[in-house]
Amino acid sequence: MKKCINCGKEYDYEFEEDIFTCENGTLSYDNFDKDYCAECAIKAAEAPDYGDYHEECECCGNRFDLAEEISIYMNNTRVIDDSLENLWSQAGKIMCASCALEFENNQLDKLDC
Ligand SMILES: [Zn+2]
Ligand SMILES: [Zn+2]
Repeated sequence: MKKCINCGKEYDYEFEEDIFTCENGTLSYDNFDKDYCAECAIKAAEAPDYGDYHEECECCGNRFDLAEEISIYMNNTRVIDDSLENLWSQAGKIMCASCALEFENNQLDKLDC
């Protein structure tokens, strides 16, 4: 049994993974860097902290920390109300902040002309 570092619940990894996967189609339970039960992982996925979760960029192959890339993205995006995960679904792949910003700029350039 594992123990959730957030709420202290003891849990079975595979069981919680199923619950998480049903709730969140974007992120994968495997990529959490802390021991979270499904419920806490779902909350963490909505507003990740540094060191909570990592992903690998499908454009450049960089491994990144989700919270860090979200803050870089939010500081640089030209689109109000957009989010990094929203761009992932537009692009159909997971991207780090710099690849996401490049993708976004290309999209905006197309709209301009
Ligand atoms: Zn928990
Ligand atoms: Zn990248």
